[in-house]
Amino acid sequence: MSVLGAEEKWDIPEALVPKGLRKQGSVILTLSHVVRWLAEQLEIKAKTIPHVTVDIFLGFAVHEILYEGDRVIGGRLSNTGVLTEDAIFADYTCFGDKGFISKDLVAKFNLRDTPQLWSVGVKEVWQVQGDYRGQVWHTLGYPVLDGTFSGGFVYGLGNNRLAVGLILGLDSRNPNLNPQQRLQEFKAHPWINSLLAGGHLLKYGAAVIPEGGYYSLPKRFNVEGAVLLGDALGVLDVGSLSGVDKAMETGYIAGGLLHQCLLEQNFSYMNLYQEQVMSSFVGSALYTSRYFREAFLENSRLLEQYLPTVCSHVDRGHPWFGPLQLGLEHPIQRSMELFRAYQLVTGNTTETKPVSYNECHEAIEPEFTAVTVVMAKTSPAFYSRPDAVFYASPKYVEGNQHIVEYSTDTCTACIAKYSALDRATPCVADCTAEVHHINFKGGTGLHGMSLENCIQCRTCEIVCPEVNLRVNPSYEGSGPDFFGL
Ligand SMILES: Cc1cc2nc3c(=O)[nH]c(=O)nc-3n(C[C@H](O)[C@H](O)[C@H](O)COP(=O)(O)OP(=O)(O)OC[C@H]3O[C@@H](n4cnc5c(N)ncnc54)[C@H](O)[C@@H]3O)c2cc1C
Ligand code: SF4
Ligand code: SF4
Repeated sequence: MSVLGAEEKWDIPEALVPKGLRKQGSVILTLSHVVRWLAEQLEIKAKTIPHVTVDIFLGFAVHEILYEGDRVIGGRLSNTGVLTEDAIFADYTCFGDKGFISKDLVAKFNLRDTPQLWSVGVKEVWQVQGDYRGQVWHTLGYPVLDGTFSGGFVYGLGNNRLAVGLILGLDSRNPNLNPQQRLQEFKAHPWINSLLAGGHLLKYGAAVIPEGGYYSLPKRFNVEGAVLLGDALGVLDVGSLSGVDKAMETGYIAGGLLHQCLLEQNFSYMNLYQEQVMSSFVGSALYTSRYFREAFLENSRLLEQYLPTVCSHVDRGHPWFGPLQLGLEHPIQRSMELFRAYQLVTGNTTETKPVSYNECHEAIEPEFTAVTVVMAKTSPAFYSRPDAVFYASPKYVEGNQHIVEYSTDTCTACIAKYSALDRATPCVADCTAEVHHINFKGGTGLHGMSLENCIQCRTCEIVCPEVNLRVNPSYEGSGPDFFGL
């Protein structure tokens, strides 16, 4: 784990790295390869078991949840309400969709007292000259020094490939995060630049990450006829940056219970799901990290002042002077603050006071001016946002309309407000692809969307301060190509 200045890197002594971020013994995998392999295994296995049929419908997204009273009875592959033949009815439906439509289930049953906290992760996969397989770097600092909760990562894959990414909290004060451009700045750091030298970009993608954890969990993990899994439930552990193992575990637990239900034709066994998830390693990891995000929300100085100070000393070649300078200024106050942050981040606290988050967009301050970050030297690895879209390979059917803008007038007012401040609206600035744009007609700014560029991360929906967008799942298998990410 390292702290980055604009030019230098400081490797944090191993003893100070939180336990969750020590990845020795872990396996680095490409998730899109894993799920394809798993699907094949499932089909092979199903053939060996009498009376079992497994149908995997690729390229169909569920657009509407079907109910009978308050019982979920399946899903519809369109939301036009016209076609009846595109409904899939089921005794039980599992939602592992990262919220695309399960947010409707959560809203209908008012399942979440505390909203989810979202980050967005932007990631590129590079073919490089060196062999870095098995190496993992997590970074703090450059290029995000505006107080936004953020971190970078570099994972060494097989076949001389590197995954390079940046994660940015969407509960930021900054209305113009521009995650894709921040990732380019991250790659311009001399250390990352040297890893990428002579290589070429293979793939780009983005996805949101649920980081609220323990206190953002729904009150109930299942309703009659349906259950929430993985990121849709919100079991990613921000303390160890791991969601895959937790998502799989929720699937195992739900699968085991559903098997029992089917054998006995009694679906009440699903009521054991919540307790089994919480008493598994998933529940204990979430409990340990329950104040991880709160540590930085409670004390904004940690990211807004202390981190930039340490980074500037990293660049001057004496990283320890950063903590020393902070300590000398107000020794007692700073020591207490840092000790408390350490306790909250590592879970070494007996505190049980619940925390409550606001919706991410509520943190945005239109007037917020980020500190100017001196960018590392420009790098040949720098890609514009339109160019990056090419590497996400989105494909859409003619006339695709998968993002809904609820009110044109709301957008017009929002554009006027941000234009007066000489900055882009959050949807334009924070889009990870090149979708949202403003056209000025007779002095009035109109919001437009190039939907064919969308890589379906849902960032714009989350940061829109007016809650004026809804990103729907794709139609007819359209969207970005995640294979290789
Ligand atoms: C940049 C980045 C780096 C990460 N790094 C790590 C890491 O190193 N280790 C780790 O453990 N975790 C990591 N995570 C988190 C991890 O990827 C997630 O926690 C995990 O993938 C969640 O699994 P899931 O099955 O719940 O959701 P997903 O993996 O998001 O799968 C959801 C699936 O549902 C599909 N879907 C969505 N809507 C619909 C619909 N309406 N109908 C049908 N299908 C639908 C989607 O296409 C997708 O295939 C990272 C995340 C990001 C963004
Ligand atoms: S979509 Fe949201 S952020 Fe974008 S212009 Fe409209 S109101 Fe503003
Ligand atoms: S339009 Fe929204 S969902 Fe699509 S890439 Fe941009 S931010 Fe993501």
